[in-house]
Amino acid sequence: MKIIVAKKILKANDQLAEENRARFNQANVLVVNLLGSPGCGKTTLLEALLAKLDGRAAPAVIEGDLASSIDAERIEKLGVPVVQINTDGACHLDATMVAAACAEIDLDKIDLLIIENVGNLVCTAGFDLGEHLRIVILSVSEGDDKVPKYPTIFHKSDALVVTKTDLLPYSNFSVDRVITDMNRLAPKARILQISALTGEGVETLADWLANQCRRDGG
Ligand code: MG
Ligand code: ZN
Repeated sequence: MKIIVAKKILKANDQLAEENRARFNQANVLVVNLLGSPGCGKTTLLEALLAKLDGRAAPAVIEGDLASSIDAERIEKLGVPVVQINTDGACHLDATMVAAACAEIDLDKIDLLIIENVGNLVCTAGFDLGEHLRIVILSVSEGDDKVPKYPTIFHKSDALVVTKTDLLPYSNFSVDRVITDMNRLAPKARILQISALTGEGVETLADWLANQCRRDGG
């Protein structure tokens, strides 16, 4: 018996991801893959971030969920173009799904596309969507041991955002431990501490992404 299917799928995905990236580059769109477990606060962070962009970048959002349009409705309320992908049970987005969603977005009119992946710290890490930046979120309520336990996703990320920092006084979460683990696993990754609730740190993330958009000519 030969088991080669997953590898084949990943290879095909990588080719499609490169096609997506070429398309994004041609349109001068910076694309971010936003990753994290269910309930870590991806959509809430996204809402806070979009509000802080303040016209410095023209954004659009792709929302990935197994079912429902709950998150897309939240983004739509902010007046930001949004496409919801329902994966019909699949636990990650792939490059084909993102290509299909992009058919619904006028890439020439935006310069920042944020893709909120399905809540999952495992297989989302294995699928390149054609993004330029991967940002992984870890909330204070999830525990401070996740970096060494889910090394692939943290290793492959360009930035780690520790969220819900407003809850730090009520938990034994050690930000220092996470920083130490992350510096060991992904020394080049940026580490930001954010509370979407109080707004702490949101500006730093917004500045970073807005500056990248400009640098990339978008
Ligand atoms: Mg969400
Ligand atoms: Zn999956």
